[in-house]
Amino acid sequence: MPTFVYMTRCDGCGHCVDICPSDIMHIDTTYRRAYNIEPNFCWECYSCVKACPQNAIDDRGYADFAPLGHSVRVRREPEKGTISWKIKFRDGREKDFVSPIRTTEWGTIKCSSEYDAPSADDFKGEELAHEPEYLKIDGGLPTISPDKMKQGVS
Ligand code: SF4
Ligand code: SF4
Repeated sequence: MPTFVYMTRCDGCGHCVDICPSDIMHIDTTYRRAYNIEPNFCWECYSCVKACPQNAIDDRGYADFAPLGHSVRVRREPEKGTISWKIKFRDGREKDFVSPIRTTEWGTIKCSSEYDAPSADDFKGEELAHEPEYLKIDGGLPTISPDKMKQGVS
């Protein structure tokens, strides 16, 4: 679902421009507000939605997700660590979806060069870099023991 900007909400801060991996969020040179220059090239990553402090960015739902006549509102609530998607259908029904988001403060994500280099043993494991420490999971990632995997198999 490609994004678009409500220009009346946008204050032209440029966060969406900085974060868009497809480089399609631009600032209109006349109105000093952001807009999506090429929705067909939208990755639908919603980085811009998460980054926008004004809740100025929404998306156009696909027909199978939200049929003709619908509206989709996206609400960013960093204090709750969530993004809420509210879909309103033509017949008035509403559906809410809440998704957890990362709550790292803007500008505080460390560069990979700031982390310790992995050891030779780290390459032998199945965990990704800095798991499970940065997933904040104590005691390692959850696993299923081989005997549990046989349950239900005749
Ligand atoms: Fe760019 Fe992703 Fe926003 Fe699309 S959803 S405009 S690709 S940041
Ligand atoms: Fe406008 Fe939001 Fe983009 Fe800032 S992040 S320029 S307020 S749409």
